[in-house]
Amino acid sequence: MHRHDCIILGAGAAGLMAAALFRGKDLLLLEHNSLPAAKINISGGGRCNITNENLSPSFYLGDPAFITSVFKTFDNRDLLRFLKANGLEPVLRKSGQYFCKESSREIIEVLLHLTKAVPIRLNTEITGVERETGGFAVHTASGTFFAKRVLVATGGLSYPRLGASPIGFRIAESLGHTVVTPRPALAGLTLQPEQFWMKELSGLSLPVEIGVGRRKLSGDLLFAHRGISGPAVLNASLFWNRGKITVDFLPGVKLKSLLKRPHRSAASLLPLPKRFIKAFFEATGIPQLPYAQMSEAQKQCLSLIKSYTLAPAGTFGYERAEVTKGGVSTDEIDPSTMQSRIVEGLYFAGEVADVTGMVGGYNFQWAFSSAAAAAKSV
Ligand SMILES: Cc1cc2nc3c(=O)[nH]c(=O)nc-3n(C[C@H](O)[C@H](O)[C@H](O)COP(=O)(O)OP(=O)(O)OC[C@H]3O[C@@H](n4cnc5c(N)ncnc54)[C@H](O)[C@@H]3O)c2cc1C
Repeated sequence: MHRHDCIILGAGAAGLMAAALFRGKDLLLLEHNSLPAAKINISGGGRCNITNENLSPSFYLGDPAFITSVFKTFDNRDLLRFLKANGLEPVLRKSGQYFCKESSREIIEVLLHLTKAVPIRLNTEITGVERETGGFAVHTASGTFFAKRVLVATGGLSYPRLGASPIGFRIAESLGHTVVTPRPALAGLTLQPEQFWMKELSGLSLPVEIGVGRRKLSGDLLFAHRGISGPAVLNASLFWNRGKITVDFLPGVKLKSLLKRPHRSAASLLPLPKRFIKAFFEATGIPQLPYAQMSEAQKQCLSLIKSYTLAPAGTFGYERAEVTKGGVSTDEIDPSTMQSRIVEGLYFAGEVADVTGMVGGYNFQWAFSSAAAAAKSV
C-alpha cells in the first residue's frame, strides 16, 4: 500500500494552486470532472476575474481576523507577483478588477504547467475520508488512496453542472468539524407578489445603492424575469439571509434638490428611465402630477424612490449562484496553516471554508491565498 505525502481533493482553483506550490512532494490530486478547473474556465465572462487591487476583509463575509491572517501569508500582490513570475500579467479593468488578457485559459495553462509533475486522477468521485494509523484513507468510487495528509479543496454547492458537490462539507462533518449552514450567494433575488411590477422591467439596468443590515452595496441592479440581479444585488445576496432590504434608486442624489421646480410633473424631474418611472409610479400609487399638487401621502410615496423596502422571497438558487456562503467553521482552522484544529494532518482551502467574497475577484483571491497558506505550511 502506497501512502502519499498529501492527497488534494478537488482540482479547482484552490486544489491546483496548492498542488503548484507543494512542488517536490509526493502528491495526488483527485477530481471527478473529466477536466480540471471547470469554474475558472467559465469565470469572469470567460476572462477570469483573478483578483482585485483593493483587498481587505471588508469585501468578505467571514471572520475578519482569520481572513487578515491568511492574506498575511499570500495576498493580491503576492498573487500578481507569482503569476508574473510564471509568464502571466493580468490586466486591470474597472473597479480594480484584474482579469486574464484574452481568456481564462491563460491562468489555467499557468496552473497546469506548474502541476504537470503532479498525478491528477480525473473522473474519480471522492466519497469520503477516514482517519487511520499514520494518516487518512480517501475513498473514491474507483478505489481507496492513502496519505499522511489530506487537503480538502472541493469547493461549495454552486453550479452543480460544473461538478460542485457537498462532499467537502460531509468529510468535514464526518471528522468532527462544524459546518456553518451553506446557502447560495452572489445570486439574483426572487420577489414577493408586491414587487412583481419589477418583472415588467426585465432587461433594464440602473445604478442603485442597496442597504442590507448595516451594509451599503453600490452598483447596477438588473431587472430580470425571475427577479432582480446585477452586481449590487449579487453582493447584497452575500449579506442577506431573510428579511428586508432597502433600495435607493437615486444614489448620490438628493430628492429635494430635484424637486426645486415643483410645478413641473414630478416624473419629468427624475433622472431615471421613463419605463422605470411609469412602473414605479403605478406600483406605489403616485399620480402623474406636479409635485406641488401632490398630497402629503403621495409625496411620501415619491420619497420611497430613495428608500424602497422589499423582502426578497429567496435567491435564484445554487444553479445560478456564483458561490456558496457558509462552510467549514473557521473557528476550527488555524489561519496560518489552514490545518484543522481538530484533526492533525487535515487541511482546508477555498470555498469549502466559511469565507465568501463579493463580486470582483475576491473569491479566486481567497481560493489562492488559502491554498498558498496550506501548501506553504506542509
Ligand atoms: C459562473 C461563475 C463565475 C465566477 N466568476 C468568478 C470570477 O470572475 N472571480 C472570482 O473571484 N470568482 C468567481 N467565481 C467563484 C469562483 O469560481 C469560486 O469561488 C472558486 O472556483 C472556488 O475555488 P475552489 O477551488 O474552492 O472550488 P472549485 O473551483 O469549485 O473546485 C472544487 C473542485 O472539486 C471538485 N469536486 C467536487 N466534489 C467532488 C467529488 N465528490 N469528487 C471529486 N471531485 C470533486 C469539483 O469538480 C471542482 O473541480 C465564479 C463562479 C461561477 C459559478
